[in-house]
Amino acid sequence: MTRSSPPKQSPPAPRHVTPQRLAELRGGPEVPQRPLDARALAALAANPGCRRRALLDGAGVDKQAVATALGAPAPFGQSQFALVRGNAFEARVKADGGEVVLALLCAQVGEAPPEPGEVTVPDVTADGPAGRAERTRQALAGADDGWMLLDHPLLALEVAGSTAYLEPDLLAVHPDGSVSIIEIKSFPILDGTADPVKAGAAARQAAVYALALEDIRTVRENALLVCPKDFSNQPTAGLLPLRKQVAATRRQLHRLTRLDEIAAGLPEGAHFAPGQDPGALLTAVEALPAAYAPECLSTCELAFHCRARARGTGAVVALGRSVRGELGGLETVHDVLSAASGDPEAPAAADPAAEMLRRAASLRAEALAAAGTEAAATGIPARAGTWTGGAGPAGAEVS
Ligand code: SF4
Repeated sequence: MTRSSPPKQSPPAPRHVTPQRLAELRGGPEVPQRPLDARALAALAANPGCRRRALLDGAGVDKQAVATALGAPAPFGQSQFALVRGNAFEARVKADGGEVVLALLCAQVGEAPPEPGEVTVPDVTADGPAGRAERTRQALAGADDGWMLLDHPLLALEVAGSTAYLEPDLLAVHPDGSVSIIEIKSFPILDGTADPVKAGAAARQAAVYALALEDIRTVRENALLVCPKDFSNQPTAGLLPLRKQVAATRRQLHRLTRLDEIAAGLPEGAHFAPGQDPGALLTAVEALPAAYAPECLSTCELAFHCRARARGTGAVVALGRSVRGELGGLETVHDVLSAASGDPEAPAAADPAAEMLRRAASLRAEALAAAGTEAAATGIPARAGTWTGGAGPAGAEVS
């Protein structure tokens, strides 16, 4: 007798937040939608616990304007000078119908560069992002066995129940039908080495493009990073391995809570138009759970606001994820100080991190006592700060 297995349940159909609901969240249909780009998705993937960023980015809210309206604007984005320089460099890399960039690609992957005239450059312009994404998809799907170069194509990716449109600098289809993602950046490659932080950010961006491409064509495991060579304007290139990055980004984006679930937790009528009453805007923003970490300072326009709120509550996460990881179940600075005090009656004294904290507190006391003795002998006052929460000793920034 064979056992029949229970019928497989198909996964629930994805629920989309309607464009009308997204427009309401922005403050009305007249408020323009900020496109969700690969840089933002890569930052979201790096902090999937932040529902605040997920909803604001998903709805296309202008976070910079919201931060300014909340009185906490963060310096963000490239300067005008950097933008102009970056655009000039990109034009140089793409010159001559892509001859320069394809030569760099072929040198890196060990293939013979195509002759001029052997490369198809399809027109993927169309009205609206959905039209451009469809033109890009058709061009990629219809590529034959020759070289193809797509300049500023548009890719669609479903994220948390919403469609994001992503614009890689270039895509190259090889004669074997696989696709290379090409990222052009204006930071230099010095003596053959790129800044690892900037190269890592470029790889995360390329991984997002790879996810958007993978149901259209096979994506190569390395993206091409093109940058200025040393301090010149000459392009040079290197390969960015994508395999681990794609797996991690896929996992993190799947963990993002659906936008409709997050939006359902907002008070009735709440929206994020920066021009509304600041109190109402603050209430709406604070209704969205955030997950601040010092990394936000380089990736999110709301970082100054979220940092101030995290410090205000004494949340230890404001000191960094590594510090948070060391402190086990202790979530606030108050709990940490209580555990370190040595008071056996303190609730935090039972936490596994308490013994380590008591030891650290006693070492600190010894060091300060020794410094005090030395100060008395030399007449030079010892610097002893008081840890007040978000700032370090004597007000030094911890982040
Ligand atoms: S700054 Fe705030 S909104 Fe932005 S990612 Fe960090 S916690 Fe989230």
